[in-house]
Amino acid sequence: MTDRAKLLEARGVRKSYRSGGGRLDVLRGVDFSLEPGGFVSVIGQSGSGKSTLLHLMGLLDAPDAGEVWLGGERIDDLPAARRDRLRNTAIGMVFQAYHLLPELDALENVLAPLYVRYSLAAWLREGPAARARARGLLERFGLGERLHHKPRQLSGGEMQRVAIARALVAEPRVLLADEPTGNLDEESGAGILDTLSELNRRDGLSIVLVTHDQVIARRADRIVRLAAGRVETV
Ligand code: ADP
Ligand code: MG
Repeated sequence: MTDRAKLLEARGVRKSYRSGGGRLDVLRGVDFSLEPGGFVSVIGQSGSGKSTLLHLMGLLDAPDAGEVWLGGERIDDLPAARRDRLRNTAIGMVFQAYHLLPELDALENVLAPLYVRYSLAAWLREGPAARARARGLLERFGLGERLHHKPRQLSGGEMQRVAIARALVAEPRVLLADEPTGNLDEESGAGILDTLSELNRRDGLSIVLVTHDQVIARRADRIVRLAAGRVETV
């Protein structure tokens, strides 16, 4: 069933991990949904399965049971090539540890997902517009003077803003952020949260923010909690 009021959905999602002979049931039937233009925080204690859920919705991993839907289409069971493409275009992800490529400068890091996505012919055609978009995002995030800095020449907050620009360069339908301020001091973290809020309010970007911190979670317009493998509304 298609539900257009929902952009991203997890339906009855289950995920277990093997751990030394035993089995760890991390997600035991999780239902979650994000409305278009929505901003939802997922909170829960460390180990409650927040990252697991985000990875499943970002197609980095597959659920054992249940379904993931994006824009009225089931996406967890797509053939690998379509899943990869969707992950590269429709879903932007940001992680606690930035995961920038150390050899590339800020601008090249933002463009990196497109290098993967485009053939040479497509790059020759689309490259100039993509570069302009990447540069525009970095300038918007206050990094106009840092376009050619390598990650090691950037602060944590600056690296995370590069990572957000990279997540947005393909103009995804949703941004999934996993503890994006977890490695940052309070002030830099607040800057990142302001950036996310602004992207949501001004651009209508749909966001899922995972955090263990209640104060950070309140930046969203709705909070859900993961506990004992299920979601409860806070
Ligand atoms: P959170 O992000 O809420 O801290 P995670 O989703 O990272 O929690 O992990 C949930 C639980 O699953 C933890 O107990 C973790 O140790 C376990 N876990 C996560 N990934 C794996 C894995 N690949 N193999 C085995 N156990 C895992
Ligand atoms: Mg986590």
